[in-house]
Amino acid sequence: MLLAASIVCSAAAAEPKRVLLLLSFGRDFRPWNEYATQLRSELNKQSAWPLDIIEYSLVSARSGDGSSEGAFVEYLRAVFGPNPPDLIIGIGAPAGGFVQQHREQLFKSTPLLITAIEERRVEHSKLTENDTVVAVHHDFRVLFENILRVLPDTKNIVAVNGVSPNERFWKEEIARETEPLQSRVTITWSDDLPFEDVLKHAAKLPPNSAIFLFQMQLDAAGVVHEGDAALRRLYAVANAPIFSTDEAFFGRELVGGPMHSVAVNNERAAGVAVRLLGGERAGDIKLPPSNFAPPKFDWRELQRWHISESRLPPDSEILFRPPTVWEQYRWQSLGVLAALLAQLLLISWLVYEHRRRSLAEVQSRSAMAQLAHLNRLETAGQLSASIAHEINQPITGIALKSSAALRWLAVEKPDVEKIRSILTDIVAAAQRTGDIVSGVRALFKKDSNLKAPLNLNKKIDTVLALLRLDLQKGGIQVETTLEDELPAVTGDPVQIQQVILNLIVNAAEAMQAVQPRALRIQSKSTAGTIRVTIEDTGPGINESDRTRIFDPLFTTKAGGMGMGLSICRSIIENHGGKIWAEPGAIRGTVFQFELPVVERLSSQETLAA
Ligand code: ADP
Repeated sequence: MLLAASIVCSAAAAEPKRVLLLLSFGRDFRPWNEYATQLRSELNKQSAWPLDIIEYSLVSARSGDGSSEGAFVEYLRAVFGPNPPDLIIGIGAPAGGFVQQHREQLFKSTPLLITAIEERRVEHSKLTENDTVVAVHHDFRVLFENILRVLPDTKNIVAVNGVSPNERFWKEEIARETEPLQSRVTITWSDDLPFEDVLKHAAKLPPNSAIFLFQMQLDAAGVVHEGDAALRRLYAVANAPIFSTDEAFFGRELVGGPMHSVAVNNERAAGVAVRLLGGERAGDIKLPPSNFAPPKFDWRELQRWHISESRLPPDSEILFRPPTVWEQYRWQSLGVLAALLAQLLLISWLVYEHRRRSLAEVQSRSAMAQLAHLNRLETAGQLSASIAHEINQPITGIALKSSAALRWLAVEKPDVEKIRSILTDIVAAAQRTGDIVSGVRALFKKDSNLKAPLNLNKKIDTVLALLRLDLQKGGIQVETTLEDELPAVTGDPVQIQQVILNLIVNAAEAMQAVQPRALRIQSKSTAGTIRVTIEDTGPGINESDRTRIFDPLFTTKAGGMGMGLSICRSIIENHGGKIWAEPGAIRGTVFQFELPVVERLSSQETLAA
């Protein structure tokens, strides 16, 4: 039972509503045809019921000859028979006037909505309680002022208008409302001319003219102009910009300005129509007429007539502006951009890669050059250092002892034993010199370095003995802390001695200008290595220099070669050890090197060096 009731209800809700749509003049007359077309779709959008829209045109409105109207009324009554429409909509003043005129016969109990009409064309006194109006309000002064605003040099406005009763009515109104502007601009009318002559006239207007087209449905020659034919033909020949009242005409020929909006008015009209179909009493719905919508301008006409956008009212909308290249080809542009970007990235990467390679090449070349240079200088430095520090000593000894031997030989009874002893010393010194030279040679012969177990304490002692006099002269206090029973390391005794010598000479040179001058030398065995520490109280090494002192050719001394430390490092590293420098606890520098232990010898005497 409940189910049956709900089926009945939905059937009633779905029942179509019949709407009689009456057009003025005919199906294709602007602006009403625009209103009718859009109103239909707006009605279907807003209506809850399916709509059966039946459309007729009031052809008699063209001429104003109302003699046939009675027959038309009869025809409509016959069409609908005993089932009158649910709603009558009159579009435009002629259609609205017609229904009002024949309201008694035209389904007087059916609600009537008159729309697309100017409020002045409504016969308010004849409105019944079943009638309502959605009207607009024309303000011709605003329209003409718009022309003078965007084209301030305008001297002459030609008003184009037809001769049907509706058009004649408006001619009077336009003239009356624009009267106050006559001091600024001349307004002329073309309604006494057939439209063909209007066209000829419009083609030869003097400079600073504008055309205001109100309507051209019926011209002075009695010719009817459907749709927007009149406007299109006028636009084709006119040598002045054209303005009008309604957005129904806007879209190519008009410059633009404030105009009635078809969409806005239809939305209002459809809303009222739906309320009427829903049963609301028409007489209770009273809407004020709507004014012009915010101004709209056609960009193409603005260009054509050189109208600057700065002249337009601030709330204006500019339509038909051609899309920018970006808007038009957005995806293509994005594609090209992406391709360019990818190409750019690729090029950057290639350039980067190329630079990296060249840099690496330059670096490796410079390293090679440095190495070659180093080899030469290393040899020279090594030799000169050895000659200076080691060979010099025994040679001086040989010279001194030879002089002594000669002196002993010069006496009457030479002391043969004494001379023998001196000569033995000379032979030992010469032997030592030979050893040094072969050691230096061995240093530069690849893989031929002598590697023997050696005691670092002994080497330190030897170097200190060699330098004793120099250190004393330099006022340097020497303190040694050498670990007893130090395990042996393997290496070339001459080279290792060279390292110790270099470090001590450097320390002594560093302390030349400071007080106190203390040199501390320590040897210590740690897990698997022997560490030798040579500490001075000199000025220390700049933080920035500390990483460079082992580089070949780095020197801060006027006559320095910058090779000592680099040779030390290559010797120590060649022996599987490492060498480094640190700042002293209070002042000075601590140089340390470590060499790997090979074996613990029972007696230091058994060591090779
Ligand atoms: P150079 O022959 O120039 O002295 P080295 O390789 O022996 O060459 O030393 C390089 C640089 O390291 C020196 O010029 C000096 O600036 C710094 N240097 C070496 N040893 C010491 C030290 N004990 N105290 C301060 N600076 C040092």
